[in-house]
Amino acid sequence: DEMTKKPSLTLLIAAPRGFCAGVDRAIEIVEKSLERYGAPVYVRHEIVHNKFVVDALKAKGAVFVEELDEVPDDAPVVFSAHGVPKSVPAEAQRRQMIYVDATCPLVSKVHRQAERQIEKGQHIIFIGHAGHPEVIGTMGQVEDGQITLVETIEDVQQLPFTTEDSLSYLTQTTLSVDDTAEVIEALTERYPQIVGPKAEDICYATSNRQAAVKRIAPASDLVLVIGAPNSSNSLRLVEVAERMGTSAKLIQRASDIDPSWLDGVGTIGLTAGASAPEMLVREVVARLNEWRDVEERTLVAAEEKMVFKLPRQLVD
Ligand code: SF4
Repeated sequence: DEMTKKPSLTLLIAAPRGFCAGVDRAIEIVEKSLERYGAPVYVRHEIVHNKFVVDALKAKGAVFVEELDEVPDDAPVVFSAHGVPKSVPAEAQRRQMIYVDATCPLVSKVHRQAERQIEKGQHIIFIGHAGHPEVIGTMGQVEDGQITLVETIEDVQQLPFTTEDSLSYLTQTTLSVDDTAEVIEALTERYPQIVGPKAEDICYATSNRQAAVKRIAPASDLVLVIGAPNSSNSLRLVEVAERMGTSAKLIQRASDIDPSWLDGVGTIGLTAGASAPEMLVREVVARLNEWRDVEERTLVAAEEKMVFKLPRQLVD
């Protein structure tokens, strides 16, 4: 009857959202390593930045550590999707460990470009967020002093180089497409000689998820982004929505949703970062359904068909 009828809610679900090909591959690498080598399989750093994924792998026998010195010599170890400095596989080799590298091929591509730019005698300006494991990994592909990190246009203005210096730039894969374009513009304005990467380093998954948020945000009163607080690409999705004037919240699970957020809200936009499983999207939809009569619509910004091969040592 009318008294118990729930108010309606339009839910605009972004596509693409959630797992990217690099995350799919990294999770499969841990699972296949567990099958091949047996538990425990050590994983250096969270395989992908999602507690739910990490807990599921822990339950299957994965042991997560931050550094290689926490892993016994005779146990297999997987390196996370974010990539590692060169010193890490070098140390694993020195200790004759079995290791499997789950670095996303699109991150490895940036690593190889860094090496090539150094071979050409260029100093690298790297656009990224200080302290993120991908940044530590990419900066660790070359010697100290060969690469300089910038995060903002202000950082670009502080750089000590001249227009005579041989310079190139690279970027983290999970940055804001719009912010990065501005930083690159500042770089090329100050250093017209600077050489960029052949193709953009921001990966297809990052740019597609940002494009998809741009589709849902203008029509939404609130955007929910499922992702971890240390997930770079998820944080960027929150920013993209906010920049379009829509308030946005990062949530890890459905239980993070405060019912008061729905006050006066008729349309919610929903997306998930590249490391968040679809199961969590369904959990959020179910939760919203408890409070509202939800009408779901999916807005598609791009089709994705990317699949990455597993490392050879896990295939035969
Ligand atoms: Fe690879 Fe992009 Fe996914 Fe990172 S977000 S794992 S770079 S596909």
